[in-house]
Amino acid sequence: MDLQHWLGRATDAIQEWADTFGPYRRHPSLDVADDRFAPVFAEFTDRLKDNYPFFHPHYAGQMLKPPHPAAVVGHLTAMLINPNNHALDGGPATAAMEREAVAQLAAMFGYDTHLGHLTTSGTIANLEALFVARELHPGRGVAHSADAHYTHGRMCHVLGLTSHPVRTDDQGRMDLDALADVLGTGQVGTVVVTAGTTGLGAVDPVHEILPLAARHGVRVHVDAAYGGFFTLLAGAAGPEGLPPEPWRALGRADSIVVDPHKHGLQPYGCGAVLFRDPDVGRFYLHDSPYTYFTSGELHLGEISLECSRAGAAAAALWLTFRLLPPTPDGLGEVLAAGRRAALRWADLIEASDVLELYQRPQLDIVTYFPATDPAALSAIDAASARVLTDGMAAPDPVFLSTLKADRDAFGARHPKITADADGARILRSVLMKPESEDHVEYLHDRVERLARGTTPAT
Ligand SMILES: *Cc1c(COP(=O)(O)O)cnc(C)c1O
Repeated sequence: MDLQHWLGRATDAIQEWADTFGPYRRHPSLDVADDRFAPVFAEFTDRLKDNYPFFHPHYAGQMLKPPHPAAVVGHLTAMLINPNNHALDGGPATAAMEREAVAQLAAMFGYDTHLGHLTTSGTIANLEALFVARELHPGRGVAHSADAHYTHGRMCHVLGLTSHPVRTDDQGRMDLDALADVLGTGQVGTVVVTAGTTGLGAVDPVHEILPLAARHGVRVHVDAAYGGFFTLLAGAAGPEGLPPEPWRALGRADSIVVDPHKHGLQPYGCGAVLFRDPDVGRFYLHDSPYTYFTSGELHLGEISLECSRAGAAAAALWLTFRLLPPTPDGLGEVLAAGRRAALRWADLIEASDVLELYQRPQLDIVTYFPATDPAALSAIDAASARVLTDGMAAPDPVFLSTLKADRDAFGARHPKITADADGARILRSVLMKPESEDHVEYLHDRVERLARGTTPAT
């Protein structure tokens, strides 16, 4: 789709609608002449160049990429009206779109019933899930893996809950024996299961944690902010297929968080929280002094901790899902390409003399480090940092990220490496763009040369 064409159509379509309400005069206080706008816009676009090329396949660093053009058009078009999805009166059309898009997410996870809504971020979505968890299990804490997103420890603090970090195994997944010990204390009311950790993309065994939690009367919240859409690859034929068990179990979790602004092709400002039991809506006490004139239906603001929220975010997601639905042959194809890229790169690294794989990717995140002599943590840390900075400074730049691995985690995977430090930075590449698949050989070759310390052949 031609973005320029559709952005023009967006302004036309909204203007056509606006014109039906009759003419009026824009207030002169808002006037900005084109000749004043031009130099400011030039300065603005120039300043925006102080950025990393998230769109480019040679950017293989953090979890960043531009939204799909359909999401851009959806967002901008709705923004010209600027509905507020806090209440139906704030924009009935985008409130309905939010319900439909959220229902698609719930169906993707196999929920038969649900209550859910979009949020501004995964952080707020997780906060809501933990808030509901606290209301259901007052006085009991929250267990989460030591590799879970730091938001869980922080939000437990906000909510006045004790957080219990649980050891991870040698693949970065929550250790079941350690979890059983923590649940055995009776002090835990909720376990947070991460389906795709932010660092390594490790998938906790949801299917094994569910029965364990049930035995202890403990609630299960799945933080699938990053990994949620990978459920579309569960049991898929082909190399990208994922072991189905953890993903098929999601439908039995009490709540799930997923971030459409990570793997759902959306601009920032789009997370989602889903509860399997719609009855938890009762915890969102709501007594707004502003009267709603369309009060027959539940307003989104009545089931959300946030008040004002961009209806444009719902519009963008709805429009994107009409074209690339959250199904295996829709959005699944996008994730499959990144997953194949990660597997291919892991194979190349395993065959390399210069690089070593930290662990096999479980999703689309590749972690690796330069082979050093001596094979020791301090040398690996320095070499990883050098590859990162040399890669960005080179005339043909490549953008990676680093991840701190502590000495125990390192030792569990690479026992022969001398632990002469607390840990080491390793290299990390999130291959979340489907285009990565065409660039893995190049990326590998490039990073190998950086690890050898040679300057690129130009
Ligand atoms: C990104 C992420 C979060 C935080 O979500 P934001 O949208 O950045 O606020 C929480 N948990 C996991 C697993 C994540 O990957």
